[in-house]
Amino acid sequence: GALAVSQGVTMAPALAASGALSAVLGYFLVSSIGGADMPVVITVLNSYSGWALAAEGALLKDPTLASVGALIGFSGAILTKIMCDAMNRDVVEVVLGGKAAEPVVEGDVVDLGPHREIDAAGAAAALVAANSVLIVPGYGLAVAKAQYVVAELVDELRKAGKKVGFGIHPVAGRMPGQLNVLLAEAGVPYDIVYELEECNDDFADTDVSIVLGASDTVNSGALDDPNSPIAGMPVLRVWDAETTIAFKRSMGSTGYAGVANPTFYKENTQMLLGDAKDTASALLESLRAQL
Ligand code: NDP
Repeated sequence: GALAVSQGVTMAPALAASGALSAVLGYFLVSSIGGADMPVVITVLNSYSGWALAAEGALLKDPTLASVGALIGFSGAILTKIMCDAMNRDVVEVVLGGKAAEPVVEGDVVDLGPHREIDAAGAAAALVAANSVLIVPGYGLAVAKAQYVVAELVDELRKAGKKVGFGIHPVAGRMPGQLNVLLAEAGVPYDIVYELEECNDDFADTDVSIVLGASDTVNSGALDDPNSPIAGMPVLRVWDAETTIAFKRSMGSTGYAGVANPTFYKENTQMLLGDAKDTASALLESLRAQL
C-alpha cells in the first residue's frame, strides 16, 4: 500500500490487492481467538498499525511518520507483553494458533445448582457489619455507568471507618485500563485501586467482596476446570472473602468469553440482581439509612 502511494498513481490494483490480502490475514488472525484472549489480539493489532506507519514513513522518506509509527509499534508491543504476562498466555500461541474456544451453543445451560439472592437492604446490612470491603468492577460497571454512585458508596463506607479497596483485573472491561479510567473519572483515589497481584491474597482477610458487573475476571472455573476456554488465566479470587455480593442483571447470561461462572453459585455468594446503577443507588440509599 505504501509502495503504491510512494510511486504515485497507477498502482491502484496493488493497493487493492494488498488491502484484500490484509483482510484475509486479519480474518485468520482473529477468527481462531476465543475465550478471554481477545485483549492480546487487540494490543497486537495496535502494535502492527504502528509498524505499518513506520514502514510508510521509511518509504516516503518522512522521518516524523517513521518515528511516530515506531513509537506506536513499540508501545503496542510493550502493552502486548504486559497483557500476555498478566494473563499467563504465550503471545505466539494466541496470535498464531489461537485458543479456539468451543462455540457457545444457545440454550446450552450448565447446571451449577441454586444461587442465593440478596436485596439492597440486605447488602447494606452486610456492608454495615463489615470492616473490610474489596470491590472488583468489570464491564457491567461501564455499561451501567455506575462509577459515580459507586464512588459515593465508597466515600460513605470510608467515612464510616471501613477499609475499602478496588481490585482491577488487567483485562477488565473492553479496553486496557478502562476501569481505571472510569474510577479516576469518578474521583476514586488512586491509592485504593490495586492491581490483581497486589490484592489477590487480601480477599482471604476481607469481610465482603463485591463483584460489580464482572464475570470472566472472577470466574473460578479458570482455576478449577482445565477444559474451560479461560483455563490458566489468573482471576481475582473474590470467593476467598467471607461473603461475596455480586451485581449483574440476570442469571441467564455469561461474560465476554461465553462461559458459565461457578463463582455466582458458591455458598458464600449473594446475587444482587438488576442494572448496576439502579442496584448501587438503592444500596447507597439503604446504607445511608443504616449507618
Ligand atoms: P465480562 O464481560 O466477563 O462480564 C460482564 C458482566 O457484567 C456480566 O456478568 C454481565 O451480566 C454484567 N453486566 C452487564 N451489564 C450490566 C449492567 N448494566 N448492570 C449490571 N451488570 C451488568 O466482564 P469482565 O470485565 O469480568 O471481563 C472482561 C472480558 O472482556 C474478558 O473476557 C476480557 O478478555 C474481554 N475483553 C477485554 C478487553 C480489554 O482490553 N479489557 C478487550 C476485549 C475483550 P448480565 O448481562 O447478567 O448483567
